[in-house]
Amino acid sequence: MALPTYLFVSDLHLAAETPAAVEQFGTFLASEAHEADALYILGDLFEAWVGDDDSEPVRKQVCAALRDLSTTVPCYVMRGNRDFLFGAGFERRSGCTLLPDPLLLETGEIRALVSHGDLLCTDDHSYQELRTAVRDADWQRRFLALPLEARRAVADAARKGSRQHTRSTMREIMDVNEDAVRTAFRASDTRLMIHGHTHRPGVYLHEIDGVTATRIVLGDWYDQGSCLRLHGDGNFELLELPR
Ligand code: MN
Repeated sequence: MALPTYLFVSDLHLAAETPAAVEQFGTFLASEAHEADALYILGDLFEAWVGDDDSEPVRKQVCAALRDLSTTVPCYVMRGNRDFLFGAGFERRSGCTLLPDPLLLETGEIRALVSHGDLLCTDDHSYQELRTAVRDADWQRRFLALPLEARRAVADAARKGSRQHTRSTMREIMDVNEDAVRTAFRASDTRLMIHGHTHRPGVYLHEIDGVTATRIVLGDWYDQGSCLRLHGDGNFELLELPR
């Protein structure tokens, strides 16, 4: 029997303003992903998500394409810092199953810690404060009670603030914190970690208590696609998908 193959993507940041990425992801779902044994989307699938009731055309189109795929391939989605408001309505629309962050993935010979990645960026204190505030259940209830237009306006303002923050914050501060990575490896007793968020694709090696641990970082879909193909025996390829 052939080894199972799992695909991981993140940071697609899909929106009406990025039609090329939307189209490439649609093609990816209908081709590569269709051949996989499972698809994992590790956050920031959308540039923004202001509630499961948002029927804007691109969000609708992407959810429908995921729903098609999910009838034959199990699809899992983790919330990112842009689409942390995914809820049960999104699961119904997309056929995807929402995952906790972090997730300990154990299947066959694979044992991996899977995360969006923003939790590891502990040097960015102002971002972590914001993250804690908007993950609060009361805050989310109040926000989701606003009319759709008001929620969109808040999200637009937040995106502008986020871009400003990205421009004015040192690159090192916005990367993962080495101690946070070590702590996560030790706490989960894993030697493989998969995450996105930092938009710094690559395979990073860490020495943890005399053992080499591997941290695979997925890339964004701004100018091309990025995808991790992980095989059931633990072998993998981190792929660039030219547009
Ligand atoms: Mn992110």
